[in-house]
Amino acid sequence: MNVTRRRFLKICATGLGSSSVVALGFPVTKAQAEVRAFKLARSSETRNTCPYCSVSCGLIMHSLGDRAKNAESSIFHIEGDPDHPVNRGTLCPKGAGLVDFIHSPNRLKYPEYRAAGSDRWQRISWDEAFARVARWMKDDRDRNFLAKNAAGATVNRWLTTGFLAASASSNEAGYLTHKVIRNLGVLAFDNQARV
Ligand code: SF4
Repeated sequence: MNVTRRRFLKICATGLGSSSVVALGFPVTKAQAEVRAFKLARSSETRNTCPYCSVSCGLIMHSLGDRAKNAESSIFHIEGDPDHPVNRGTLCPKGAGLVDFIHSPNRLKYPEYRAAGSDRWQRISWDEAFARVARWMKDDRDRNFLAKNAAGATVNRWLTTGFLAASASSNEAGYLTHKVIRNLGVLAFDNQARV
């Protein structure tokens, strides 16, 4: 197409980009036929479990970035996992709003400890938290474990500590939790799903 300077200026004067392109003779059919990219197409997917209630619905979390070293990931969309046997892709309104929970400035991201008599919580490491829990459990069991009852029968029970298991655990984690807790002699053992 031969566009003279005068004609070019006239075309530009029309102002609208799309009509200018057409007037210049460029084919727009392909551009018009292009489908808008799905907004999640380039996100990274991570599977997880809703932390709110004992139903424990499966999630797919979509985040920005390709997890390259210098790319900062940020979760921007969460939806139900269609392959999860519990919820088959559905989420209740609470689970559907999880992205706000994740970015909340009040979200607890690490263990905290409040000393007896103190009005303040202080941050501790995971190692410290596990060590403290183990220490308290060991001390309490040493003090209160009962090998035999008053009649002399073997009972091997520990009644002063209880345990609540998470319903979001897998079958394998649930099995191991049960074995560990029962082997310690704990009788007060329940699951979040019944609460
Ligand atoms: S999505 Fe709703 S029903 Fe499912 S686990 Fe979360 S809070 Fe419970």
